[in-house]
Amino acid sequence: MTDKCNLNCMYCTPLEKNQFLDRNEVLTYEEMTRIVILFAQLGIRKLRLTGGEPLIKRDIIDFVGMLRDTGALEEITMTTNGVYLQDRADKLKRSGLDRINISIDTLKRERFEAITGFDFFDDVWKGVEKALEAGLDPVKLNVVLMKGINDDEIADFAQLTLDRPLIVRFIEFFPTNKRSMKYAGSSLKSDEVKKRITGHFGMLESVSGVKGNGPSDYYKLAGSKGLVGLISSYTENFCNNCNRVRIDCAGRISPCLFSGHTHDMRPILRSGRFDDEALVRMMRDALKIKSRYRKDKLRNGQLEMSSIGG
Ligand code: SAM
Repeated sequence: MTDKCNLNCMYCTPLEKNQFLDRNEVLTYEEMTRIVILFAQLGIRKLRLTGGEPLIKRDIIDFVGMLRDTGALEEITMTTNGVYLQDRADKLKRSGLDRINISIDTLKRERFEAITGFDFFDDVWKGVEKALEAGLDPVKLNVVLMKGINDDEIADFAQLTLDRPLIVRFIEFFPTNKRSMKYAGSSLKSDEVKKRITGHFGMLESVSGVKGNGPSDYYKLAGSKGLVGLISSYTENFCNNCNRVRIDCAGRISPCLFSGHTHDMRPILRSGRFDDEALVRMMRDALKIKSRYRKDKLRNGQLEMSSIGG
């Protein structure tokens, strides 16, 4: 949705400032919708809105409605930091958002500020509560774990699933851009996370069939309303099962998060001709070469999650 964010997370926001796209480089909602409709015709009917921070976009609620009105999509979801969610959760739901992922790496207010640069913990937490009240289903919390930074909160996060229908997903941190390289040794393996949860709560029951088609393994604590998810983004290679295609806010298709290779749709979109065939050709080409890329060809320090959305 955008390459800009209202937080400054210690492992995500690029070090170099002022490298954001100009406003006219970012696709309009009409251009984005055209792309969505064409991809849907190729069979891609599940859409996640991410960023940057999607909720800093003006009229984002109307855009969700516009996407829903196309009738082209089976599912619309969003990944957000939740800062602006409390007043919007209900409207987003009513406009057609199905479910939501909220990124929150700590339950401690001061630590939240240390990680993100802003004292917005209370806002995010209210956003989580409003998302549950609004009936977004499921509400998933994304927790990126880093040794010595927030790994002492694993049990507290898992505890949240006991009396709330939340899905708490622990994500292995992986170094992506220059800023995150200095935390390269901080990743905590999912096996270790699982061990710590069972050490605290006892047996974890494995669960299948959770909405989302994602790379997470899901578990349930005894008697819990929600679930715990483990995403082994660093230690496992799920390239063979990858079902994602990413499009950034400038209209570039990334067949693979790790490759750096893109297909630029904007020149076609803005050629002045309604050349849907050329767009579809480019989409097909991007999908065709997707399987060529592999995580082992990681772009060393060159992957900006803040513009491609994770
Ligand atoms: N602003 C939105 C948000 O905060 O959810 C969407 C964009 S953000 C880049 C998407 C997700 O990527 C967040 O959950 C964030 O924690 C995760 N992320 C960013 N850098 C990461 C890294 N190096 N390793 C693992 N996850 C990362």
